[in-house]
Amino acid sequence: MVVIHLSAECYPVAKVGGLGDVVGSLPKYQKAAGITSIVAMPYYDRQFVRENDFDIIYNSEIRLGNAILPFEVLKESTDKLGYPLHLIRIQGLLDRTEIYSYPDETEQFVAFQLAFLEWLLQFGEMPDVIHCHDHQSALVPFLMNHSSRYNSLTNIPTVLTIHNGQYQGWFGWDKFHYLPDIDPWKWGMLDWKGCINPLAAGVKSCWKYTTVSPSYLEELKHNSNGLENLFVMEEAKSQGIINGIDTEVWNPATDSMIPSNYTIDNVNRGKQENKRAVCKEFGLALSKPLITFIGRLVVEKGADLLPKAISNILDSLKGKASILLLGSGDPAIEEALAALRLSFKKDYNVFIGYDEALSHLIYSGADFIIMPSRVEPCGLNQLYALRYGTVPVVRKTGGLKDTVIDFSEPEGYGICFEEASSDAITEAVSRAIEMYSNPSDLRLLRKRMMGLDFSWDRSAAQYINLYNSLK
Ligand code: ADP
Repeated sequence: MVVIHLSAECYPVAKVGGLGDVVGSLPKYQKAAGITSIVAMPYYDRQFVRENDFDIIYNSEIRLGNAILPFEVLKESTDKLGYPLHLIRIQGLLDRTEIYSYPDETEQFVAFQLAFLEWLLQFGEMPDVIHCHDHQSALVPFLMNHSSRYNSLTNIPTVLTIHNGQYQGWFGWDKFHYLPDIDPWKWGMLDWKGCINPLAAGVKSCWKYTTVSPSYLEELKHNSNGLENLFVMEEAKSQGIINGIDTEVWNPATDSMIPSNYTIDNVNRGKQENKRAVCKEFGLALSKPLITFIGRLVVEKGADLLPKAISNILDSLKGKASILLLGSGDPAIEEALAALRLSFKKDYNVFIGYDEALSHLIYSGADFIIMPSRVEPCGLNQLYALRYGTVPVVRKTGGLKDTVIDFSEPEGYGICFEEASSDAITEAVSRAIEMYSNPSDLRLLRKRMMGLDFSWDRSAAQYINLYNSLK
């Protein structure tokens, strides 16, 4: 079986969040299960691309409105990632340093999808499944079904995985002419509330759609940035499949980005040494519980609740904890979090920015990681934290609800709370500090967490069953 994954992100080529991690690792595990998994993504002018060798395997052109755009398909030539990686390059559109946030993002991702389909048209043997990820590739199932240009592709099964339903890729009908001839009876399928909505069109047109956790699938029916009714209507072709993690990249026993490697047998010593390195770098005390947050500083992640929660915690629990944040996002939140440094010099620090190696160091050295997310489709941070023996302190939502059990319950290991509020975070952190004051319990919990298996094996098999059901 041959599956092509289409995505805007794929670690280590380009990653902003969980999408990159998933598309970077799932194909490896699918390959191990006997499937040929191929990744096709936009070309980016980034380190991985500059440092590796690629062959141009195809070139042609697409029409985007009135413009004719030449494109090339490059294939990584040494099988560096363990699966075939293809990059689609279009000068000026798909050769950029960043992944998102360009004013012409619509043109960027529509062109990516059109070029992919153009390339696919001339395949000798067609793949068994096209697996699209998020709105940046969600027009593909629609176009394969409803544009005469791609008639020959209509019988290829399509799967759309929703990693984040908040972003839908909306654009105005004034850009409808970017798309090749569409069956006029089907124009309405592109529309959602007066806009062209690629994610909605993808959900309507794909053979099956999945979300990255079962709870998120349920939540989308009540909270999906305007698509609630759509998810109710289309429910019959949906499935929630929890993400796995790449246990080779995220392995405290071999991780080259942390100073001290450790296993379940020497977790306390390993974490203590890594904590020493983190505390030294950020001017924090080694003796206190180290509580951290890693992620995008956006409302969806509850990052707006952090400034008040941190003030509360450090005021009311004076001297009892250290807090360290790593993230970037909303400038107002960044500023508020940076300003807190002046008030809590020795107990608090923040690194504003994106730093993959620092994230590994923090997962390995921190005692607790807070995730006060309002929406969390799956969440990978808590899974990495568990693998590194770091206690997740999470709001019960989406994938967090599906993967973290409160330590007060049988076989539990994390700290869970209900409300997205600064007070609820403060209370949960008080429980964390109490837990920390009991070293023997904490040691047992660390071992329990590190013994859990969130590798891809189970979820990769679920995707394969899904593909087989489409034959
Ligand atoms: P999302 O995709 O919604 O951002 P996930 O929990 O699915 O959230 O994935 C987040 C991924 O991005 C994790 O691998 C996390 O470690 C990483 N990450 C987020 N922010 C940063 C940052 N500032 N520096 C390094 N890694 C980050």
